Amino acid sequence: MTHMTFSDTLHFDLIVVGAGIVGLAHAYTAARRGLKVCVVERDAACVGASIRNFGFITVTGQGAGDTWRRAKRAREVWGEVAPQAGIAAVHHGLYLSAFRPKALAVLEQFMATPMGEGCELLDVHQAAARAPELQLDGAQAVLYSPHEMRVESRTAIGLLARWLAESLGVTFRFGESVLEVATPRVRTSMATLHAERVAVCTNTDLHGLFAERLLPHRLRLCQLHMLRVMPQPGFRLPGSVMSDLSLVRYHGYSKLPAAAPLLEQIRAEEGESLDHGIHLIVVQSADGSLVVGDSHHYGDVLEPFADQRVDDLILGHLHKALMLTQAKVTQRWVGTYPSSATSDCLIDAPDDATRLVLVTSGTGASTAFGIAEDVFAGW
Ligand SMILES: Cc1cc2nc3c(=O)[nH]c(=O)nc-3n(C[C@H](O)[C@H](O)[C@H](O)COP(=O)(O)OP(=O)(O)OC[C@H]3O[C@@H](n4cnc5c(N)ncnc54)[C@H](O)[C@@H]3O)c2cc1C
Repeated sequence: MTHMTFSDTLHFDLIVVGAGIVGLAHAYTAARRGLKVCVVERDAACVGASIRNFGFITVTGQGAGDTWRRAKRAREVWGEVAPQAGIAAVHHGLYLSAFRPKALAVLEQFMATPMGEGCELLDVHQAAARAPELQLDGAQAVLYSPHEMRVESRTAIGLLARWLAESLGVTFRFGESVLEVATPRVRTSMATLHAERVAVCTNTDLHGLFAERLLPHRLRLCQLHMLRVMPQPGFRLPGSVMSDLSLVRYHGYSKLPAAAPLLEQIRAEEGESLDHGIHLIVVQSADGSLVVGDSHHYGDVLEPFADQRVDDLILGHLHKALMLTQAKVTQRWVGTYPSSATSDCLIDAPDDATRLVLVTSGTGASTAFGIAEDVFAGW
């Protein structure tokens, strides 16, 4: 029998496992409701998907229904929380350039949905005037969305955790693995903790906690290539940038009827990019560097060896979309998220007091605050 001292036992209203954006969103939502919260993170700081992403908090293009609704709400929360936590909004809005007539047809259908609210379909002259950095030779039109916000994820996640600790009294236990959750008891590599409720937000850790509950969902890992690119001095993007290939990937567009013929055309013209799951997202950092991606490779295990060919394809799309005279790659990294063929987010209840929350698509930065509100609404 394990001998337990009093100091090993700490009591909370809520324990959150994982200090990525999903865990932090649950900690925030609970702390705002007056709960005593503890976040347990196995690494000394979060180094998972939440610091590797674009920091692209996007509403437009999210799948109709829950994902879009949660993204709209999460965007509001980011707008409230970021200034308090000292997180800068590096830029706002989205410019999506449509080069193929079939891409324009998708945008026209999108604008006719409720999700087009507040967006504008700019002709090439209007777009060039607003965003001279866009390369618009051969473009049909540009979708402008005002809803997006860009944060520097690699610093924002740490700032958010610090603010939660300092301003909302959330306890953080970094460098401590959760080995077992049997709510109200949580056994870690350092102690046994207790909480009325436990939220498990462990992202890619599919073979760890509650592996048996995850198994039926047939999740696969999805790995993305990301690049940091330094453009010519003085180059400033007015917002995030996407292009045709995004229209067959982001569900808010790709589920529209007009996306099927576009996909067929892209398959014929850019099959290699599609095979690597490539589409273009470009955002900018305060130092002027661009964060550029991405690709999508799926599997139960993923190769740690990043193929240069994939990066070359991404860079080719970058040059087609922007007026760049210089594009020096200064960093490369990969990031991973769990992927489901059927849903963007998995919320499971192993028992009344425990929730397992995984974003099973590339949308967690954009939706986590909305997801956490949904979790607490029914809990
Ligand atoms: C390259 C890339 C680009 C992306 N771009 C965007 C984007 O621009 N916009 C967007 O909305 N979404 C984007 N996404 C998706 C988004 O980043 C993820 O959905 C989100 O970060 C998931 O957050 P998380 O907290 O679940 O995961 P993570 O950030 O991975 O955090 C999970 C944490 O749980 C910890 N953990 C796991 N097991 C245990 C345990 N047993 N005990 C203690 N701790 C544990 C891990 O150490 C980790 O820190 C992107 C993803 C990637 C990979």
